[in-house]
Amino acid sequence: MSEEPIIIRISKEDNVGVVANDTGLPKGTLLDDGTRLQDDVPSGYKVAMADIPAGGRIIRYGQTIGYSNRMINRGELVHEPAITLPDAPGLDAIPLSDNPEPELEPLDGYSFKGYRNGDGSAGTRNILGITISVQCVAGFTNSIVRRIKEELLPKYPNVNDVVALNHAYGCGVAIDVPSADIPIRTIKNIAANPNFGGQIIIAGLGCEKLVPERLLSEDHKNSRYDADMIILQDESFTGFNEMAGSIMRKAEVHLERLNRRKRVICPASDLVVGMQCGGSDAFSGITSNPVAGFAADLIVRAGGSLMFSEVTEVRDAVHLLVPRAINSSVGKALIDQMRWYDDYLSGWGADRSANPSPGNKRGGLSNVVEKALGSIAKSGTSPIVDVLAPGERIRRKGLTFAATPASDFICGTLQLAAGMNIHVFMTGLGTPYGLAMVPVIKVGSNSRMSRHWHDLIDLDAGQVALGQKTIEEMGWELFGMILEVASGEKTVACDRLGLYNDLVLFSPGPVT
Ligand code: CA
Repeated sequence: MSEEPIIIRISKEDNVGVVANDTGLPKGTLLDDGTRLQDDVPSGYKVAMADIPAGGRIIRYGQTIGYSNRMINRGELVHEPAITLPDAPGLDAIPLSDNPEPELEPLDGYSFKGYRNGDGSAGTRNILGITISVQCVAGFTNSIVRRIKEELLPKYPNVNDVVALNHAYGCGVAIDVPSADIPIRTIKNIAANPNFGGQIIIAGLGCEKLVPERLLSEDHKNSRYDADMIILQDESFTGFNEMAGSIMRKAEVHLERLNRRKRVICPASDLVVGMQCGGSDAFSGITSNPVAGFAADLIVRAGGSLMFSEVTEVRDAVHLLVPRAINSSVGKALIDQMRWYDDYLSGWGADRSANPSPGNKRGGLSNVVEKALGSIAKSGTSPIVDVLAPGERIRRKGLTFAATPASDFICGTLQLAAGMNIHVFMTGLGTPYGLAMVPVIKVGSNSRMSRHWHDLIDLDAGQVALGQKTIEEMGWELFGMILEVASGEKTVACDRLGLYNDLVLFSPGPVT
């Protein structure tokens, strides 16, 4: 054993440390503080740095992540079987307060080259979006998108792509129940994403419950997109080729308009960055998420918008977030979103222990409390200025909590609807996640996975755990990468490889 043991404790109160060495540490290893390992401890797993009596608090990030259910001796491996999950923070007891908006030190002089839109937003891509009012037409739009890419796109060099905004909404979804507006506003707001430049084609069937007109603004004057519509059951079409010909002609009109757009200098304040995690491990809260949090603060200081999400992954840390709300109504909105989700889960007989995944646990995360404390690090330190319900569009610059499930695909879909123009995605275990509508920067939490997946990961934040770089250095690096990628000057791994996930709606209502 030649390698120096690397043990990470975030807070000096922590009575467990995380083994950061790539290959873990063997039983018998002597640590700097005199602790001798009683077990083999794999990379990312926790070791007791003090004796912890049965019923004692297990402390990581300076917070109680659980209670030991047996005597744990100093030097022992500490993982899920030894830890009792504490109750979630009570929502009624969290004090609300009004905090005057703090003066953040402004960060001037940063810009990117984006596509300016009529509504003042800026795109990082120039894409023709084809949305649908019902799942039945998804095969049609897929087929048409292939044809447009082959036959039309080469004629419009300033247009980056054409994308089918397919989803699984169908007539089975109960359309009048209280939560039914969530998937509908999501579909509508995705079409208004800045990367589509206000040029949208809606393909409908003709017999669906969600009539395509509902995807337009009630007040057409204020619509954020200029939509053309095609209804496949329209009597005037005889057969597929006539439908295809019609949508191809419409596509040319929109491609023509999009092709006239050029990238212009946009201030960094036009960035709308959506952040989320997928496949976290015990390093996520030490490396990738604090690095993302540092970059998040830079985005906010530059006047931009930053969203973090994933209700089940902030629920156990919400008592640390509510005090960061700029006023009591934002604090209350945050609590209301947590309560809504508690009820949603209990209505299905589920609870928060359904998260973390088996993979998260293999990565060293013992429970959802530990996961949440690491997860919120990506929100940085800025005040929370607004809270969005699922599928709502972003309203304010600064740090917003956009309530979404933690599911990578649903979170990404809802952040698209909120209007993100760039996505930052942290992973510890590795996932090929990607979106065709916005560039996705993939940040690895550990160097072992980042090296192994060298062509799938854009930034290796694992260097922080090994002491090779600081959080601040890597935070600046990520911020610089966001500007470069937003400008189209750097291609992210999932765009290079064409790795794109389907959109997945959050549809909490029943299906008939
Ligand atoms: Ca996720």
